[in-house]
Amino acid sequence: MKQFTYVKPTTQTTAVTAIGKPGTKIIAGGTNLVDLMKKGVTAPNRLVDINALPLKEISTTKDGLHIGALALNSVVSENATVIKLQPLLSMALKAGASPQLRNMATVGGNMMQRTRCVYFYDTTMPCNKRAPGTGCGAMEGYNRMHAIFGTSDKCIAVHPSDMCVALAALDATVVVTGKKGTRRIPFTQFHRLPGDNPELDNQLAADEMILSVEIPENNFAKNSYYLKVRDRQSYAFALVSVAAALDIQNGVIQSARLAMGGVAHKPWRLFDAEKALAGKPATEDSFKTAALIAMQGAKGHEYNAFKLKLAPATIVEALKHASGLV
Ligand code: SF4
Repeated sequence: MKQFTYVKPTTQTTAVTAIGKPGTKIIAGGTNLVDLMKKGVTAPNRLVDINALPLKEISTTKDGLHIGALALNSVVSENATVIKLQPLLSMALKAGASPQLRNMATVGGNMMQRTRCVYFYDTTMPCNKRAPGTGCGAMEGYNRMHAIFGTSDKCIAVHPSDMCVALAALDATVVVTGKKGTRRIPFTQFHRLPGDNPELDNQLAADEMILSVEIPENNFAKNSYYLKVRDRQSYAFALVSVAAALDIQNGVIQSARLAMGGVAHKPWRLFDAEKALAGKPATEDSFKTAALIAMQGAKGHEYNAFKLKLAPATIVEALKHASGLV
């Protein structure tokens, strides 16, 4: 591993100054970054450890539920207010990684984790995300875990997070700060599609850091479900996952929120399917129609074409669970 310097600022101002320097990476839980450094996928000159900053708070504000960037995944998933107001987030967090990893991983770090595409981690293989312009090993390779939506001819990787799928569905906002001040980014716009620049995962500038996420109040707590389909029941990334949240009154869906994981370079929000569900009875037929709409534009590759059938079936199943049909 390349040698690096290490600093641990104790105020937000000194942290922002420190992260602006070239070759710098922020470290919090380190559950992904340390792996990337050990494998030589990334080689920062300097680490800025932000763990001394006061960013662990979970509270309710006029903007809804506030969760600090350094709140641990395990703490958020077990927090009574989160479970009461936003159970979808708790379910998604508990579906992620393993208990040991959730005890180290932070909310901000979860958002910033890199893809788990095996070619990205193998420095002997071409990868436009790791080394722009070298090609994509997955395109003609073993692409079973890869994307079916929003791909480009440069990259077909997926974002690995479960938590982010729930936050995308719940219309969360990301609060970030940097030298130019603080700004708020809608969660669905925080991560990006690969396009011609798959090396960029999200909209965060090099001199910015995440302060918190905020989830607005909603009526979804009673009818939410996170369904993750994976190769084993724990410590496995999603083949397909679905975050489903419904506001149901007298058997009729007032509004719906849906997002998928394991299918795109970013959490994949299903806006058209949500519109199709609004005003419909909460029945399996309505869910099947929405799932068909959700799959428009999907495209499989040699080893992941099974997702074209798995994804709509997972949408229907998640909606059945969310609505109480099963
Ligand atoms: Fe790299 Fe993306 Fe291709 Fe994977 S899919 S090898 S991350 S360019």
